[in-house]
Amino acid sequence: MIYEDYYIFTPGPVKMSEEILEVGAKQTPYFRNCEFSDVTYACEKGLLKMVNAPEGSKVIFLTASGTAGMESVVMNLLTKDDNALVVHGGGFGGRFVDICATHDIPHTDFKVSNTNLWEIEKLAPKEKHTSLIVNAHETSVGHLYSLEAMGAYTKKNDMFFIVDAISMLVTDPVDMSADNIDVVIASSQKGLALPPGLTMVILAPTALQRVQDVKSLYFNFKDYLSNGERGQTPYTPAVTIMLQLEARLAQIERRGGVEQSIKSAKSIAEYFRESIKELPLKAYTEFMPNAMTTLTPTDGKSAMDIVNALEDGYKVMVCPNGGAERDIIFRVSHMGDMTRAYTDVLINALYDYYKIERK
Ligand SMILES: *Cc1c(COP(=O)(O)O)cnc(C)c1O
Repeated sequence: MIYEDYYIFTPGPVKMSEEILEVGAKQTPYFRNCEFSDVTYACEKGLLKMVNAPEGSKVIFLTASGTAGMESVVMNLLTKDDNALVVHGGGFGGRFVDICATHDIPHTDFKVSNTNLWEIEKLAPKEKHTSLIVNAHETSVGHLYSLEAMGAYTKKNDMFFIVDAISMLVTDPVDMSADNIDVVIASSQKGLALPPGLTMVILAPTALQRVQDVKSLYFNFKDYLSNGERGQTPYTPAVTIMLQLEARLAQIERRGGVEQSIKSAKSIAEYFRESIKELPLKAYTEFMPNAMTTLTPTDGKSAMDIVNALEDGYKVMVCPNGGAERDIIFRVSHMGDMTRAYTDVLINALYDYYKIERK
């Protein structure tokens, strides 16, 4: 299978631009020098701007997948004296519950469905919680929660607010300052449209104060923060992905900044949803991010069969779900280097598959 020949609509890895691919094709440089420190500083500055981080915020660069970002945040910032309210609306929320359990952090498994938590005040269990943890976009089902409502709730109740923004950064708005967010977790392979392997933890000053001594060598934030002062990491970073991140942040700026990038994702998501209205498919949730559309067949077809038909017949990769949802839903990502023309390939494939003429 030659992946270059396929049209990619999976929610990570996503379609990367030629410019970023070219950076990845070059010799990896040595990194313990000023040249590379400048790359790190540029990445930090660009990321902090992108999420409107408060003055004095810092970024930790971990060479690991996104889950390491999630776990390291719980390890370094929460203690046995905390009681975390963990939003659980799908697989990634469940992962935060597992992480808290693994590290003996007291927590409440806050199971939610069919809400964007606009009314979190009413829905949340009444016991006292010290922190709120959420995957802003629950990627397993394509559901977006309201950061605005949760931010107001955490502010009112004096809670520490941890946001996994991995699958909505760059396509949907994240504003740390406006929404009272203490920690943002980002990862390379979703909206940032880079190869997997780099996770970034953005810490507001309120989070920096919370960083504690931790029983881990690799995931010791204090170590990353002191090395970060000179633009370095304690261990070898994903050097090439950092170079790609620097190029990607510059690309986003050049194209009009993150607001423009969000607008563009929104326009493509709306175009896709509008264009498939004639097909026997319906949106799985009303709270969709710009990043992704989750679809349910309405004609009794198996979602998995559609996924397979698109791959085999049209070289179009969308994303199936597993387990009980295998036949019920499939997911279409709008993240990465997307255009209407590229999205048309998928839309046309769906019309052809259903033998319905596209108007
Ligand atoms: C993809 C993703 C992650 C990270 O998954 P990894 O496989 O560890 O990179 C975490 N949270 C969300 C919401 C995601 O979509």
